[in-house]
Amino acid sequence: MEKEELIRLQKRKYYLKNREKLLEMRRQYGIENKEKIKETKKKYYENNKTEILEKKKIKETCECGAKINRNQIQRHYKTKKHINLLAEKNISNDNIKDDNTISEVEN
Ligand SMILES: [Zn+2]
Repeated sequence: MEKEELIRLQKRKYYLKNREKLLEMRRQYGIENKEKIKETKKKYYENNKTEILEKKKIKETCECGAKINRNQIQRHYKTKKHINLLAEKNISNDNIKDDNTISEVEN
């Protein structure tokens, strides 16, 4: 067996054996370092603010045709606007599809 493979297996065995303990330790760390973690996140945001905001601005064209911010697209899927637009689009798509089918058959 390869040495690296062996180490990997040992690590996995260790993890499985101490899983509960490790999870508890992580949870505990989260509680004890709540402020620190918050601070780190805040710092990350401050340092990457432009990039983060830039990403938020990226708009995607939804299949219904609406332009939606990428981070809002999941929410948009549930809106009446999306559902209605999609329904309308599907109706016209069906008509087009029918036309295509006819010409395909002819070809
Ligand atoms: Zn949509």
